[in-house]
Amino acid sequence: MLTPADLILHNANVLPLDTALAERAQALAVAGGLILAVGSEAQAARHKTAETQLVDCQGRTLLPGFIDAHCHLLAYAAALLSVDCSPSAVASIGDIQAALRARAEATPAGGWVRAVGYDESALAEGRHPTRWDLDAAVPHHPARLIHRTGHACVLNSAALGTAGIDIATEEPPGGHMERDPSSGEPTGLLLEMDDLVDAAVPPLPYAELAEGVRRASERFLSEGITYVQDATASNGIEEWRLLERLRREGHLRLPAAVMEGYRCLGELPEAVPDLGLRRGAAKIAVSELGGEIYPREPDLAEMVWEVHGRGRQVSIHAVEERAVTAAAGAIAEALDRRPRPDHRHRIEHCGICPPELAARLAELEVVVVTQPTFVYHNGDAYLARVPETDLAHLYPLAALRRAGVALAAGSDCPVAPPSVLTGLYGAVARRSRRGSPVVREQALRPVEALHMYTGGAAFAAFEEASRGSLSPGKRADLVLLSGDPAAVPEEEIRSLRVELVVVGGEIAWRASAPAS
Ligand SMILES: [Zn+2]
Repeated sequence: MLTPADLILHNANVLPLDTALAERAQALAVAGGLILAVGSEAQAARHKTAETQLVDCQGRTLLPGFIDAHCHLLAYAAALLSVDCSPSAVASIGDIQAALRARAEATPAGGWVRAVGYDESALAEGRHPTRWDLDAAVPHHPARLIHRTGHACVLNSAALGTAGIDIATEEPPGGHMERDPSSGEPTGLLLEMDDLVDAAVPPLPYAELAEGVRRASERFLSEGITYVQDATASNGIEEWRLLERLRREGHLRLPAAVMEGYRCLGELPEAVPDLGLRRGAAKIAVSELGGEIYPREPDLAEMVWEVHGRGRQVSIHAVEERAVTAAAGAIAEALDRRPRPDHRHRIEHCGICPPELAARLAELEVVVVTQPTFVYHNGDAYLARVPETDLAHLYPLAALRRAGVALAAGSDCPVAPPSVLTGLYGAVARRSRRGSPVVREQALRPVEALHMYTGGAAFAAFEEASRGSLSPGKRADLVLLSGDPAAVPEEEIRSLRVELVVVGGEIAWRASAPAS
């Protein structure tokens, strides 16, 4: 007898995105959380019993659930609880002050006022706010305003005092503290100094964090995301235990791979299968600051070797061309010392990458995990600020693909919202928020862009055997869209709607007007 299906989705335009199933299908059957059959109406119907739950997809498009291959779960949850100072919420420092003042009034004495998402280039004043700007709005509470990139923040005077940062503070290597040119006093703007600041800011109480994680989960699901890879460089055993608890208590509603921060190498367990939690790559951040690479190249090579030598996968944050070059060099050195097939070492972001460097990455078999949403969200700023010579190689999706580099995509939320449809639009249309073309030569075809959020993202985490396409035996993680992103005109990709989301065979999210 055929295995009875728990759930059958039929009358659908199914895109399996699986090499063995290049044809479209009409229906899909699920049992025990796994895909049982993908094929014609008749093929799926053979598994139907009186108990089978049926979903009539009304001709809509069924895809593998999207995977966000690079996000920051706890930071995103915290951001959803913080004052929103992103360009869609504020237009000036005055707006930021008004928003902070309102939050301070509702915050008990001594409590922190937390704000996120500002972008100095989008503010009317065209500059970073200072401690004095924040003091004017929040004189009595410590306040921290985090830049949209997460790599800078502004503290008010109370927060600087709590963090013990003053005129005598020396910057840590790779960090920078802006000072008033005449007095030498810190202006409150800190770049890459989170270690110092984090030590002073109390963690969110668990109940608040759980609320943030519930909101984050809801948002991921509503975007069709059924699996996330957390790429936080500070992850250690404490963060893992927290995520475990959040998952066990049902606040985190989707399974996750959790990267391990380099400094915590060896702390995380490999997996907690019944919670759907897995340890991901070991994360190292490389950046260029004031013409220098941090960590220095010999140190970076040692760090990468330490991870590689343990047989682990490394994931290196590298945005600028020099940082990507340094990351590639360190990976090459580790592979020279001990060659290893199928290592899948990752470079995250890869913001500027000319063809010679792309060819090098392909030769090293590096996986690039990048952010097509940035093309849309930051495109106008890139066009204004990135030098012409670099612009041609900005998030060069087509060039990386042509070179043969394996690609995956993520939102980097809270840096950008976790909208996969916006990412697909960025990759395919290469247009900014204002509609300007952003190096159209680097556009992908829609199926190639979809692959970055499905099979490519699964590959980047060694999970292609169980996720990333619709074929029998894989996890029943599904997203139903109002239209076919591979067939609609590119301008319509962003306005497609997520209708239904299935995680592990269970309907986890539905648009308010149900699909069936
Ligand atoms: Zn990130």
